[in-house]
Amino acid sequence: MGEIMERRKTSSVCIGNVQVGGTAPISVQSMTNTKTDNVEATVAQIKALHLAGCDIVRVAVPDMSAALAIKQIKARIDVPLIADIHFDYRLAIAAMESGVDALRINPGNIGNIEHVAMIVTEAKKHHIPIRIGVNAGSLEKGIQEKYGGHPSPAGMVESALQHIAILEKLEFYDIKISLKANDVPMTIKAYQLMSETVNYPLHLGITEAGTIKSGIIKSAVGIGALLAQGIGDTIRVSLTGDPVQEVRAANEILKSLGLKEYGPTLVSCPTCGRCNIDLAAIAEEVEKKLSTVRKPIKVAVMGCIVNGPGEAREADIGIAGGKGQGLVFRKGEIIQTVAEDQLLTALFAEIDKLIEEEQ
Ligand code: SF4
Repeated sequence: MGEIMERRKTSSVCIGNVQVGGTAPISVQSMTNTKTDNVEATVAQIKALHLAGCDIVRVAVPDMSAALAIKQIKARIDVPLIADIHFDYRLAIAAMESGVDALRINPGNIGNIEHVAMIVTEAKKHHIPIRIGVNAGSLEKGIQEKYGGHPSPAGMVESALQHIAILEKLEFYDIKISLKANDVPMTIKAYQLMSETVNYPLHLGITEAGTIKSGIIKSAVGIGALLAQGIGDTIRVSLTGDPVQEVRAANEILKSLGLKEYGPTLVSCPTCGRCNIDLAAIAEEVEKKLSTVRKPIKVAVMGCIVNGPGEAREADIGIAGGKGQGLVFRKGEIIQTVAEDQLLTALFAEIDKLIEEEQ
């Protein structure tokens, strides 16, 4: 596996039982899109996210009924929970009293330093970290004017530093930072700048990235570029759609950089004039089968016998198509030749065998 740049050293925070920053593995976050006070729906979505490989889940807390619902939600889940709060210190206090594991709130937006101090006192009491989340779209007017009248990486960092200073003045250092924009180069520059300025752990994300297809590409490019430079301690892919897709995409980003071993990897060739089978349909079936597998196995689906097994030598198991027949191979060695219509059955049997062997 290729090596990426050494990870930047940061301080760490604990969100429930998940450490973020320091030497901890890069964690995956997502956010529910249910009404938080609909406890049934929210718990069901949190469980689905956790099952898909989400390490930390965030819920919106727009009102008191959402803040109070956290107590019931927490009793039914075993993944750390973050409350996302804007402006209202009372919601932050109520969320902490309800047992939330961390807050996302910007102290500079609360308006009254005494209210910030109340939040900090409660957060210290329960060891609850606070994420400062700067968003390019809602950058303070004064800061925007200072940097050319529009959002900029330097402006985003300055905004974060102002929020950080408020917490540090209250001797609160259990901090994590995000600097999100929907513009990928701006986001990358902002995080680079931030990582040269402070050593708090960084939560990476491209905000309002878009629908599943374009959003995954933007997130993979932005988050991937930063991770490849050793920047980033926890990530969230933001997509308009089912948040489970966010978690899958986030795990794929981490897997593709060798930062996480999670679930199987499917390698499939792009096909060319040598391919004589319907490889796209076969690859889809294999992907479906693998979506039920948790082991980090690598499966190759290759179009032809000429290059297939050799090209996919590092795969645990795979198939290569031929004329009317195909090959099943393991670690690049051919172990079976079967009729084309038996290829999938033979591959699935080998996958099951491999999983059993590894148990
Ligand atoms: Fe073409 Fe065979 Fe390579 Fe697939 S494995 S791209 S079919 S040469």
